[in-house]
Amino acid sequence: MVERRVLVTGGAGFIGSHLVERLLERGDEVLVVDNFYSGLRSNVHHLIGHPSFELIRHDVTFPLYVEVDEIYHLACPASPVYYQRDPVQTTKTSVHGSINMLGLAKRTGAKILLASTSEVYGDPEVHPQQEGYWGHVNPIGIRSCYDEGKRCAETLFFDYWRQHDLPIKVARIFNTYGPRMRPDDGRVVSNFIVQALAGEPITIYGDGQQTRSFCFVDDLVSGLISLMDSPPSFTGPVNIGNPGEFTMLELAQKVIALTGSDSQIEHRPLPQDDPVRRRPDISLAQSELGWAPQVVLDDGLAKTVDHFRSLQDA
Ligand code: NAD
Ligand code: UDP
Ligand code: UDP
Repeated sequence: MVERRVLVTGGAGFIGSHLVERLLERGDEVLVVDNFYSGLRSNVHHLIGHPSFELIRHDVTFPLYVEVDEIYHLACPASPVYYQRDPVQTTKTSVHGSINMLGLAKRTGAKILLASTSEVYGDPEVHPQQEGYWGHVNPIGIRSCYDEGKRCAETLFFDYWRQHDLPIKVARIFNTYGPRMRPDDGRVVSNFIVQALAGEPITIYGDGQQTRSFCFVDDLVSGLISLMDSPPSFTGPVNIGNPGEFTMLELAQKVIALTGSDSQIEHRPLPQDDPVRRRPDISLAQSELGWAPQVVLDDGLAKTVDHFRSLQDA
């Protein structure tokens, strides 16, 4: 069998590195392109020397000429702390980066998948969120570089599909967690676990009644691969996430229980435009991809706690 040549942009990041491992396991040839803005060489270090693995340091806002059959376009910082550090670069990454990867797909005839986000729904007025909902996004707030960047990336994907007949796939990913999140990532799961293990206060922004739905990274990766492998007629956008919905207060209590920590809860100001609630309606993924998440939050959190403990011991 001829190996598939797969490009993963952002492949040294949290989700990307898990995806790359899974693709290599099934026999694909994998090329990772990453500028290490928020990713780490250590995430893929163990793959160096694998006969089907290649790594290039490159910023996707600049053109890239390689020959591939499939592109998983993940390059973009995902944590508010990282994407707000250089917001102009965040928009450039989503917009210029997507134009370049779509241009590459057009030239090579590659199938291309966008890692979009539940953030396209903004602070949603519809609950749970279905793909048909157009969203409620502040175009000029501190989250806009990420939200509007991804919305524009989706627009570009659908225009290349309509105008150039490109085989596209758009995944709207909901909050994902698991091993290889960075301790300084700034997202809620990593913050709470790091704080609990250090016996420091658990920082809840606002009253803690806001909700999120957390998907374990292994489930997410299965969803992305199922989408890439789905029939050409299915473009998405499709929600990939875990419909279990929890308040941040509930999450803090779970982390405290799992770690056996004596950390106390401390409230901090709620950041601007923080969405009040978020839960995916995954009926489309279930019917079109036969996909649904398998890992419940307690089990996934236990694995994530093990990851952060191993970093402490290292
Ligand atoms: P991450 O920050 O760990 O990974 C992103 C990777 O992209 C990093 O390795 C980073 O160095 C790289 N990158 C950033 N800008 C780049 C550029 N200009 N050129 C080349 N590489 C660049 O984040 P993640 O959690 O693994 O997210 C991966 C993708 O999934 C992102 O596109 C993100 O928007 C999307 N997503 C993630 C979540 C989540 O909860 N983790 C939710 C929704 C969507
Ligand atoms: N591009 C790239 N790699 C390729 C082909 C194109 O990075 O293999 C970039 C190219 O620099 C261009 C962008 O993708 O800016 C969009 O390409 P497209 O062919 O759609 O547009 P055009 O070249 O006509 O601007
Ligand atoms: N959050 C929190 N404490 C933290 C980090 C985040 O209470 O230390 C809250 C944050 O305000 C938001 C939720 O947890 O309501 C999820 O935040 P995260 O940054 O993980 O993801 P996003 O807001 O992008 O969904």
